[in-house]
Amino acid sequence: MRIVLLGAPGSGKGTQGKRLMAHYGIPQISTGDLLRAAVGAKSALGLKAKAAMDAGELVSDDIVLGMIEERLAEADASNGFILDGFPRNLVQAKALDVMLDRLGQPLDTAMLIDVSKDLLLKRLTGRRTCEGCGQMYNIYFQAAQVDGRCDACGGNLKQRADDNEETIANRLQIYDQQTKPLIGYYQQQGRLIEIAGDGDVDLIFKRILSLLGGFREQEA
Ligand code: AMP
Repeated sequence: MRIVLLGAPGSGKGTQGKRLMAHYGIPQISTGDLLRAAVGAKSALGLKAKAAMDAGELVSDDIVLGMIEERLAEADASNGFILDGFPRNLVQAKALDVMLDRLGQPLDTAMLIDVSKDLLLKRLTGRRTCEGCGQMYNIYFQAAQVDGRCDACGGNLKQRADDNEETIANRLQIYDQQTKPLIGYYQQQGRLIEIAGDGDVDLIFKRILSLLGGFREQEA
């Protein structure tokens, strides 16, 4: 399975991507996670990306495309992958098609997770991540038992630097302007499937599996 997860920031791409990874045994590749790791490691690439990320802007295409090309060449991606947060604009989507054509591994599907703006805002402003194990929480929907402490490992719960209101507004605007046109792009290719992204995580995952199941039968 080669899947692109499409959806606004806060639509649940990361959460559902991780579940898909466990279910299908293929890697979830998140350009946001790769970039945050580069920023954390203070690499040259991370230093270049940081200002754009802090402002909620897109990091330049050449940085992101180079990173993705390297990641897709790793052995674990040869049986399929789930792309989360990439592509983010038409230039990236077209470059991805060229890359995958060259590898003889075209995309199977682009899955849009559709969520209302009100819900996106709560998901983003309420989001907390454990510094120790990466477990995610939300102060509105899925709070930790002890405020600020991870239930699983006791680690410190942190808010992402770009989950503040000003940056969130910018990220949502960029999504509307640059990423939303990808819906039409994949629709024209006949690759788009859409799922409702409201409700709890398990329910959304069930919706995803039932759609992917139907999709796989069609392909067979
Ligand atoms: P995310 O974790 O997907 O919300 O990404 C966090 C930030 O990383 C975004 O706001 C962008 O600054 C940057 N980023 C992630 N993926 C991309 C991409 N495909 N193209 C450009 N910038 C990206």
